Amino acid sequence: MDEWQEKLTCALACQRCSKTLDPNDQRILSVYDHEPVCLPCKKEEEQRPDYEQVSREMIGTCMAETEMMYSDPGGYCFHHFYPFACKRL
Ligand SMILES: [Zn+2]
Repeated sequence: MDEWQEKLTCALACQRCSKTLDPNDQRILSVYDHEPVCLPCKKEEEQRPDYEQVSREMIGTCMAETEMMYSDPGGYCFHHFYPFACKRL
């Protein structure tokens, strides 16, 4: 298991609203700060006027930056767009 997976996928709380996350609860990464947030917070983030632009830039730099650090940069970067649960990984 990659380091990011341990740190992020099993976060115990949403980093935005501090809602407690159960291991089975879906969470998703913020494109702004790469923190795991709950789905309602992601919905809010998606409403931000610069969301589309920020996410496009994020995926480019994310793939480049994490390639050196992680064995599975795609898995990490795409979790900014696809919700996941702690338990599945
Ligand atoms: Zn939240």
